[in-house]
Amino acid sequence: MSANVVTRFAPSPTGLLHIGNVRTALLNWLYARKHGGRFLLRFEDTDQDRSELAYVDAIKADLCWLGLDWDGDVLFQSEHAASHAGALEKLADQGLAYRCFCSETKLNLDRKLATSRGLPPRYAGHCRHLSARESERRAATESFVWRLRVHADDGDVVVTDALRGHVSFALRDLDDPVVVRSDGSFTFLLPNAVDDAMDGITHTLRGDDHLTNSAYQVWLLEHLGYVPPVYLHHGLLLGQDGTKLSKRSGSHSVVELRDEGLLPGALIQAMGRLGHPNIPETAHNAAALAAHFQAEHISTSSVRWSDDEMWRWHTRLLHELDVETLVAMIQPHVPSCSLDTMALFAALIGKNIERASDAAHYQRLLDIHAPLDADALRVLKEAGAGFYQAALDAWQSLAEADWKSWTMAVKERTGCKGRNLFMPLRVALSGAVHGPEMSAVVGFLGEDGVKARVEDACKICGKQQEVS
Ligand code: GLU
Ligand code: ZN
Repeated sequence: MSANVVTRFAPSPTGLLHIGNVRTALLNWLYARKHGGRFLLRFEDTDQDRSELAYVDAIKADLCWLGLDWDGDVLFQSEHAASHAGALEKLADQGLAYRCFCSETKLNLDRKLATSRGLPPRYAGHCRHLSARESERRAATESFVWRLRVHADDGDVVVTDALRGHVSFALRDLDDPVVVRSDGSFTFLLPNAVDDAMDGITHTLRGDDHLTNSAYQVWLLEHLGYVPPVYLHHGLLLGQDGTKLSKRSGSHSVVELRDEGLLPGALIQAMGRLGHPNIPETAHNAAALAAHFQAEHISTSSVRWSDDEMWRWHTRLLHELDVETLVAMIQPHVPSCSLDTMALFAALIGKNIERASDAAHYQRLLDIHAPLDADALRVLKEAGAGFYQAALDAWQSLAEADWKSWTMAVKERTGCKGRNLFMPLRVALSGAVHGPEMSAVVGFLGEDGVKARVEDACKICGKQQEVS
């Protein structure tokens, strides 16, 4: 494949980056990287009312966080305004673009009429054949939009799609789309296509909701003398429940996920694997994915997004982190202590947490005053002060106590065994009903740490008894 591949991600800076745009960005990035090409970032900021600089910065930050780096300077569609106007002029001169003076009311009426006759609600073509002079004359006093003269009785336009082959559209099935609104602003179609041509985009990967737009854009580019890019229309990403991706069906902004502590590799993995089952489980970042990426595996049917899947990847990645990184992630969730202790703590509980915030379940390992949750309190209470007194005595009776010898001694003194023996001890030491190997917990706490926690358990049970 040619080394001259150029792809782009072209977000409108009117909102934050969401799961759905991440997919398009990732696919374009992967396609470029896989083919040794370039990946451009272009902000489609022609909607001046809704575009905000803050979104430009946020989207750039999100792409960096995901490891999706772009080549060269960031491009802004607004900087090409003169080319867009020039393109329209060129089309108008050839009679391929025309002013439409129809009012919204009239258009609505036409649409209703067409629908009632079982016809597609297309533009009825009233202004298609106005003479240039008539058009100029009315433009002086009436409001108008610009349309492309696409609709015709004969002919086809062919979209080259890397997944679908040549997709042919009969012009008679297409409309005359609006390219300039009555306020003079361009709709998406023309600037997006002209910019692709001017930026030298060879491959445009985007959702199949753009397929008809591509037909218009191929038509437009060909009439302007440009070679249209090869398109690759991927199936849409649906929510977990199979409905359109929305807030309710599990769409999140990247910022939101980052705030929740998600590792970027988890989002990349979960996204990269959609329709791509051949990707090795060790490909944890965008660069590693690129090596295994094959565009022909991208699904043309819709695929479902699963948050659960993404968080499962997160847990796997979390378990593979080096201690230093893990410490940095869990520190905000537990009381502060020396860095050495924190490193030992992280190593101890690292495999027992799914998210960094789960470290809070084990606060008692660091701080005896950490509050106990309801499950832990119930276990302590059920075991009772007598059990813990016996456990304390057993500990003190042993010359060199470890988990094994201690539990044997406690078993002898209390007659408790199995769960009734191990669970109250686990909870007294760690504050949690699940967790790391108890021999490791004992090693981490040391003699004093164990004793202090068992004494504290005695005290808590004593208090509980007084109350009840
Ligand atoms: N600005 C367009 C959008 O965000 C770009 C679509 C495309 O990839 O061509 O939908
Ligand atoms: Zn009209």
